Amino acid sequence: MVIFLRPKSLSPQWGVQQPDLGLAYCVSYLKQQGIETRYHDEVEADRVPRVPDDPWVVISSSDYTMNNDGSPTIAEARSILAGVGRADGRRSVIVGPYSRQALKIIPGAIAIDRESDPERPLHRVVSGEDLDRIHGIWRSYEQFQPPGDLLENLDILPFPDWEAMSAAYPQSTTYEFNITTRGCPFNCSFCYHWRGKKVRYRSLPNVIEQLLLQQRRGATFIDFKDDTFTVSIRYTMELCAVMLESGFRLPWRCHTRPDMVNLELFKAMKAAGCQSVGLGVESFSQAVLDAIDKEMEIKSVAESFRVAREAGIKTFAYIVFGFPGENEESLRETLKNVLQINPDQVQFAFATPFPGTPYYQAMKRRGFEEADDLSDFNILRKAPVGSEQLTADEILQFGKFAKKKFIQQRIQIELSQAARLKHPLRRLKSVRRYLKVMRDPVSWVI
Ligand code: SF4
Repeated sequence: MVIFLRPKSLSPQWGVQQPDLGLAYCVSYLKQQGIETRYHDEVEADRVPRVPDDPWVVISSSDYTMNNDGSPTIAEARSILAGVGRADGRRSVIVGPYSRQALKIIPGAIAIDRESDPERPLHRVVSGEDLDRIHGIWRSYEQFQPPGDLLENLDILPFPDWEAMSAAYPQSTTYEFNITTRGCPFNCSFCYHWRGKKVRYRSLPNVIEQLLLQQRRGATFIDFKDDTFTVSIRYTMELCAVMLESGFRLPWRCHTRPDMVNLELFKAMKAAGCQSVGLGVESFSQAVLDAIDKEMEIKSVAESFRVAREAGIKTFAYIVFGFPGENEESLRETLKNVLQINPDQVQFAFATPFPGTPYYQAMKRRGFEEADDLSDFNILRKAPVGSEQLTADEILQFGKFAKKKFIQQRIQIELSQAARLKHPLRRLKSVRRYLKVMRDPVSWVI
């Protein structure tokens, strides 16, 4: 028996708390290997489930282990482990992007390396194999056993155990996730490459089989969680064609880089049901992009939003304030461009040096010290560091100002659209959208 515990989300700003795709894969893989599992979600330290003495406990180090780069939950993981009698980390495994960091405060546990595919090392640990022989684990904060080969054939993985996850989220069971690849080959210095740099692709029949299964069981929307969904334009074009041929008809969204798209691709995606695309812009300053090794020409960004709109796909811009090279001028330049491009949604986040990234190493050299439990990290709410020219507080204040400006712009757009509508029902709907912006800006600008 292996017991999975997922700490209660700390990030209500992500919207509705959703099942964890990474844990769902781990649960289904262990089940496939004949291991009995039990899954507890939204666990709080003062309301822990009863855990017998002998099973292994697997706990996540973040809001999500694969859906998003959620906030660290390692302080909560420590409290929960104490609550189930594992304060010493005995027979406990930590997964997710902050697993190694968690060993600083839960020293007796074992961490699955975030750049490894977690399923096989996790299986070997909970099967009681000799730890010396298992690749891709941290035995302590300092003691790493290098990863073996990454999974080349992702098709060997069973589909994520959605039923186990979604029982805790009746409100979101029809909003499902999928992931067609693992890994991203780019070198952005702030990114912790939690699925490694080598891109692996699921076969198209394998992806389609899962999509049709999701459609049959009543999903109403698919959110593709690939790091860079269009990392191979050819693969994405083929996937879109097969989606159409197969009878898959659900709307979906995905996330990618602005320089990895074009009009033809967006048209194919639109025809296959794509409703919205998240584009990782980060900044509209070429100097800032260069400083974080984004390897992207700024001129590709506006064009990507333009062609998405031409294809009829809604856009979601990911912006980060405060990276190296950021100054007052670059902040204003970024905001000016965001307002001009006018994406349907935007996320303004704050530069956060995640341990193990080149950006973190650079900030360490400038004297940055993170809390052991990373409680100072929340990319949407806190600016833990400044840039060379701006303080953390100046960056935070600008972020708040930018959100306000964007919301004001959206409200103006909603109101002017409502005024133009002749049909009273449509006008009513438009005004309700406006009220939603007023009441819940988080749903528009997260
Ligand atoms: S493109 Fe995205 S996933 Fe890839 S390295 Fe950059 S930030 Fe990370």
